[in-house]
Amino acid sequence: MATKFLLTFAICRLIVTVGLTLDPTELLRLELEGQLSLDPADVGSASRDFGGMRTAHPMAVLHPASPQDVARLVKSAYESAHGFGISARGHGHSINGQAMTGNGLVIQMSGSRGNPAPPRVSEKSMYVDVWGGELWIDVLRSTLEYGLAPKSWTDYLYLSVGGTLSNAGISGQAFNHGPQISNVYELDVVTGKGELLTCSKEQNSELYDAVLGGLGQFGIITRARIALERAPRRVRWIRVLYSNFTAFTQDQEYLISLHGQPQKFDYVEGFVIVDEGLINNWRSSFFSPRNPVKISSLNADGGILYCLEITKNYQESNADTIDQEVEALLKKLNFIPASVFTTDLPYVDFLDRVHKAELKLRAKNLWDVPHPWLNLFVPKSRIADFDRGVFKGILGNNTSGPILIYP
Ligand SMILES: Cc1cc2nc3c(=O)[nH]c(=O)nc-3n(C[C@H](O)[C@H](O)[C@H](O)COP(=O)(O)OP(=O)(O)OC[C@H]3O[C@@H](n4cnc5c(N)ncnc54)[C@H](O)[C@@H]3O)c2cc1C
Repeated sequence: MATKFLLTFAICRLIVTVGLTLDPTELLRLELEGQLSLDPADVGSASRDFGGMRTAHPMAVLHPASPQDVARLVKSAYESAHGFGISARGHGHSINGQAMTGNGLVIQMSGSRGNPAPPRVSEKSMYVDVWGGELWIDVLRSTLEYGLAPKSWTDYLYLSVGGTLSNAGISGQAFNHGPQISNVYELDVVTGKGELLTCSKEQNSELYDAVLGGLGQFGIITRARIALERAPRRVRWIRVLYSNFTAFTQDQEYLISLHGQPQKFDYVEGFVIVDEGLINNWRSSFFSPRNPVKISSLNADGGILYCLEITKNYQESNADTIDQEVEALLKKLNFIPASVFTTDLPYVDFLDRVHKAELKLRAKNLWDVPHPWLNLFVPKSRIADFDRGVFKGILGNNTSGPILIYP
């Protein structure tokens, strides 16, 4: 299988649009259990997203009280003589208006008004059933009560299950477990005709395959059954630096080739350091000291360094061997000697690491700013060209903000 590198700078866009105009009397006949809101605060928040670059004002926002509410509304749009647009919105952390619609309705799947159904964990079958608008942080909290946790994550947990399953859900665990969409046993989906269907690999499999990673275009996820594993207690989190891009990518590839083996890291990511300030960026607050080496002393090629991020999960039962396990794995890598920096923290703090940075940025009014991010899949055969042309060529010392590289 060819290795690809996912470079995180942003996301793609699409909206379910069923028609053009809205007749409010049609909606009153639907007898929805949830709240159909025209409140300017609700409409205003549904007309923006994390990207902060687009606006589209819906005519109303539905806070559904059940999957049937979602089905009734979509069915009425499908059957309506006039037609109207519908977009499912999770936590609105898209970049380019993917969860918006002008001249139609937004179904607010995540929200402060509570979800229609709380997470239900099956310890015996190791899965959790969750509402499509549930945030991953709340999925984690619910499953940890049973000592269990989902296997595959995104770096940030204040995203909805339906929102990340409509994309892919990628983080440093993906080499081992696949993206989040590979860890879903079953879905309940409201189709474009307003039918509420259960789908899985065995049942309505075309719908299941289309909805997972379907950019919200093939139906609205109202329930997802997510695979669980026994939750680790703690995480050893390690960063090492490279000045040579080939050595960096070869080590990333080597580490992901260990997937499925007992002696491997549990998370492999990395980022590009185009300026000294970035080593102390918003993802670094767990490390103390944050930066053990003077970057300018490392003779970086073109002034650029690459940071490999790896973790090893452990339980109390193997706490006394974790040092040797990490040491043995690090010995196989070709990073700059003396550039290793390590921290150790509870599993939940590692998974929720970006939220700590969010709180700091919010305190400085730097969270709700425009985010012109971009995600790219780059094939292994062109990643060295990409380094020469983009990291060293275009970005050089002229940029700030995180540039992540997932092998
Ligand atoms: C700080 C930050 C960090 C991030 N880190 C990562 C990361 O590490 N890995 C990663 O993969 N992504 C990451 N993302 C991207 C994120 O996964 C996507 O933007 C995701 O769509 C956001 O989820 P949301 O609930 O906010 O979705 P929204 O923006 O609300 O919706 C996204 C799309 O999904 C559709 N949708 C929403 N709910 C449903 C539903 N129930 N059924 C069907 N369609 C639905 C919407 O219509 C829209 O098309 C990050 C984003 C941010 C802001």
